[in-house]
Amino acid sequence: MTASLTGSGISETIQMVDLKNQYLKIKPAIDAAIQECLDTTAFIKGPQVGAFEQQLAKYLNVKHVISCANGTDALQLAMMALDLKPGDEVIVPAFTYVATAEVIALLGLKPVMVDVDPDTFTMTRESIEKALSPRTRLVVPVHLFGQCADMESIVALCQVHGLSIIEDTAQAVGATYTFRNGTIKAAGAMGDLGTTSFFPSKNLGCFGDGGAVYTDQDSLAHKVKMIGNHGQARKYVHETIGVNSRLDTIQAAILLEKLKHLDGYTQARQQVANRYDEAFRNVEAIEIPYRNPDSTHVFHQYTLKVPADKRDGLKDYLSRKKVPSMIYYPIPLNAQKAYQSVGRVVGDLAVTQDLCRRVISLPMHTELSDDQINYIVETIIDYFS
Ligand SMILES: *Cc1c(COP(=O)(O)O)cnc(C)c1O
Repeated sequence: MTASLTGSGISETIQMVDLKNQYLKIKPAIDAAIQECLDTTAFIKGPQVGAFEQQLAKYLNVKHVISCANGTDALQLAMMALDLKPGDEVIVPAFTYVATAEVIALLGLKPVMVDVDPDTFTMTRESIEKALSPRTRLVVPVHLFGQCADMESIVALCQVHGLSIIEDTAQAVGATYTFRNGTIKAAGAMGDLGTTSFFPSKNLGCFGDGGAVYTDQDSLAHKVKMIGNHGQARKYVHETIGVNSRLDTIQAAILLEKLKHLDGYTQARQQVANRYDEAFRNVEAIEIPYRNPDSTHVFHQYTLKVPADKRDGLKDYLSRKKVPSMIYYPIPLNAQKAYQSVGRVVGDLAVTQDLCRRVISLPMHTELSDDQINYIVETIIDYFS
């Protein structure tokens, strides 16, 4: 079976992320949107930037969306808006992309790295509680792989201790969370600020770099906007030290078009995830992704847990069979050379360490065909049988 499928060329085309075919499906609209930018030459601060910010704010049901140059800048702008002092502590998960902690260190703040939940891969109320100190000011939950952290208990804890929250939603655009009282909120709309990335492979990706900060608070929105524009609210009047971080008009024009398709893209990812779930649910060596009943899952990544002594072998086997896979993330944040003498580590991070040895992410995008999914599934089941 496997051999015949390989022979038919199905595996040749499998990619982790297929941006080309996604583009081809909406090519006329995208090309026209780009051409309009070329015709008007309003490359910076063209009308598409504000229009996209408004559309995204409406989609997420947040008051303000402030676009910027990338998701890492979004974290930086959000943190700078909170007026933190050097040495203030910021709690982050040890199992995340480095950007989350990088900005904290660059701003002279102290990243405090905590363990994550073995099911959701996100930080928990308990992990935050263990990390609290008199210097704790901010908590940065990362909605990893497309599913929200347990925000009900995190928000409650942060309220008790007077801590700010920045949600890193770079992997969770479009995910929603339902609170016990029935209120439904978008990822990024539950903390003081939310940040996201429009890197091409993210769920809502542009054709270059891009990012945004969300907030419901007028004063924070004003500060973020000002900081991202050289600290000026009026031209040539600089109230604070800022940076230059903008979303290009061309990227905004592309995102305006792609936002129309985001729900469809999310559904396509969820359908792939459902197919994978069904196929692997009864395979003993494989643990399928946990679904938090309080959150939707937009499957930025579809990540399996397999036995540590089988993981790298599986990756090699898949690679030989031309099925791409990725390890997100192979090394805990605190074990990275750059972060060994920065900040503070809480506990033994046993879950994070275990995950780094056991996780493997499968091809996940909006363009996977049934034949491709079947081939991927059969190849993995072959390996374990
Ligand atoms: C991608 C990503 C970022 C950074 O976004 P960029 O646009 O690449 O700067 C931050 N945090 C997480 C969790 C990410 O996945």
